Amino acid sequence: MMDETTRARLVAAALEARERAYAPYSHYPVGAALLTASGRVFTGVNVENAAYPSGMCAERVAVFKAVSEGERSFEAIAIAAAHGAPPCGACRQVLAEFSTAMAVLVVDEQGRVLQETTLGELLPAPFDPSFLPPKGT
Ligand code: ZN
Repeated sequence: MMDETTRARLVAAALEARERAYAPYSHYPVGAALLTASGRVFTGVNVENAAYPSGMCAERVAVFKAVSEGERSFEAIAIAAAHGAPPCGACRQVLAEFSTAMAVLVVDEQGRVLQETTLGELLPAPFDPSFLPPKGT
């Protein structure tokens, strides 16, 4: 599990990232920081769009950045938002693709950890590859 230094680093990265959120419509900036098994941290912010559904959550931005840089093994994600908020359903599904064991830290705008849980607790029955038809059918 995460030591205190790593945990503090992850919380700080999520808070710092939140400053860069692009949320001119909701005025609800969110920052995420994703810790890989290799010890790297990938941040994400929500990126909104004038065509509202085209925007993207902070958590998925962090995952997509990490995967695009060759990382697929994740240990934890910290999410910073006003009053703290857990990941939405779509983000839970995307995170579950890679690990249901990863720690999820829900952080408020002061950097307080309001909730520490796991992805498996947040999404106990994800859609996973076992539901897909076998290859070649
Ligand atoms: Zn989301």
